[in-house]
Amino acid sequence: MKTIVDTIVATRDINLEQLKAIIAAPEGDDTAYLYACARVACDQVYGKQVFMRGLIEISNHCKNDCLYCGIRRSQTGVRRYRLTPDEILQCCQTGYELGFRTFVVQGGEDGWFTDEVVCNIVSAIRSRFADCAITLSLGERSRESYRLMREAGADRYLLRHETASADHYRSLHPAEMSFDNRIRCLRDLRELGYQTGCGFMVGSPGQTAETLLEDLQFIRRFEPQMVGIGPFIPASGTPFEHHKAGSVELTLRLLAIIRLLQPTVLLPSTTALGTMHPRGRERGILAGANVVMPNLSPKAHRKDYSLYDNKLCTGDEAAECRVCLDRRIRTTGCQLVVDRGDFAG
Ligand code: SAH
Repeated sequence: MKTIVDTIVATRDINLEQLKAIIAAPEGDDTAYLYACARVACDQVYGKQVFMRGLIEISNHCKNDCLYCGIRRSQTGVRRYRLTPDEILQCCQTGYELGFRTFVVQGGEDGWFTDEVVCNIVSAIRSRFADCAITLSLGERSRESYRLMREAGADRYLLRHETASADHYRSLHPAEMSFDNRIRCLRDLRELGYQTGCGFMVGSPGQTAETLLEDLQFIRRFEPQMVGIGPFIPASGTPFEHHKAGSVELTLRLLAIIRLLQPTVLLPSTTALGTMHPRGRERGILAGANVVMPNLSPKAHRKDYSLYDNKLCTGDEAAECRVCLDRRIRTTGCQLVVDRGDFAG
């Protein structure tokens, strides 16, 4: 397997046979080599810095019905909430004091957040926190909407493609959602000058080595500035509640491969990974990730934004998350930094 890793490093490419070999390898010397190579590739671009993004979950109302998601439209028993613009700014203030220089405004697809409302929020954050990056993650919107939000001051946008196989996409989403529109959004975002992030869940129902290869090849072609991946974790009450969760080891291997395919990518070690393993986020960093996204949402609403079961840090104060992560990241030899953490491409 070491030769396979060396070939991926040299060619920045991967084929099905190589991917299958990496998936099948037992955890041990060979996977340690993969992770170490990915860590070196990351160090060469970003050093030992780990960037933090303060995640503000502004609404759990959603018009979509993604089969995997715990806040999908048909999910009953969700206490729906939305933050007011003032509450959102307050989260930014708390975050700023804790050293955050990127705010990620994320939510379900909630019609209450019209272009006007979002643009007002973005401009307010932009003027109050001039040295911070603003990332939006509000799902699929029109090109015009993305244009207005960019003009209002948004710098980045996260929209996971979820899977690069149109057939697999159909099996994860209701008929009214389309793979083509998802990709249209990603292209629009990129053309409008956003630092753009795509990504997928690891171990989503129906995922195969073939669909994963499509994901990796999609990333190679699209060259996003950011890629978010994390294990699929079943959410009770959803159609996938009885499916098994994605594996931590496969997630780590894919993080490492993505780092090797695109060394400059900003790659988070996700909360989902931390949820699946007590040292998941640290292991992600050691496998080539360089971003963490702790929660800045008001404590009172955190449990209500449960995309999946047992989500980490739903009971902590933002400050506790910051201190805890700081300590955790230091065990990897890396360090959290007070920085916007822009793409170094
Ligand atoms: N609504 C926005 C952002 C919120 S969802 C959007 O569609 O982009 C953010 C991400 O959480 C999704 O892209 C999905 O990949 C992930 N997610 C949703 N349900 C999940 C689950 N059950 N397990 C793991 N990740 C999940």
